[in-house]
Amino acid sequence: MSAENVRRCRRCLLREMTDENDYYQSVIFYRSTLPPKKRTPDDVYEVRVQTCKACGQLDNATCLQCGCFVEMRAARLDMRCPMDQWQN
Ligand code: SF4
Repeated sequence: MSAENVRRCRRCLLREMTDENDYYQSVIFYRSTLPPKKRTPDDVYEVRVQTCKACGQLDNATCLQCGCFVEMRAARLDMRCPMDQWQN
């Protein structure tokens, strides 16, 4: 596939991108392996990823500030938004 044919979704999360299902399964697995003390609780996790979804720095499920897949970054309780947009 040529570079101009690669689909980009500026405001999508991995969970919404059917072409990236393997990556999303990796996110689910990664979250499941985190010890409860390190894992972001489900409700906080959802607020984090929805904040990313509304953020202008989200591009193709990746944060343009830190280069992380946001669903992966949000999974660990001790991780922070590089622009301090997450409330917790
Ligand atoms: S981690 Fe922060 S800066 Fe990056 S996309 Fe999410 S809300 Fe935006």
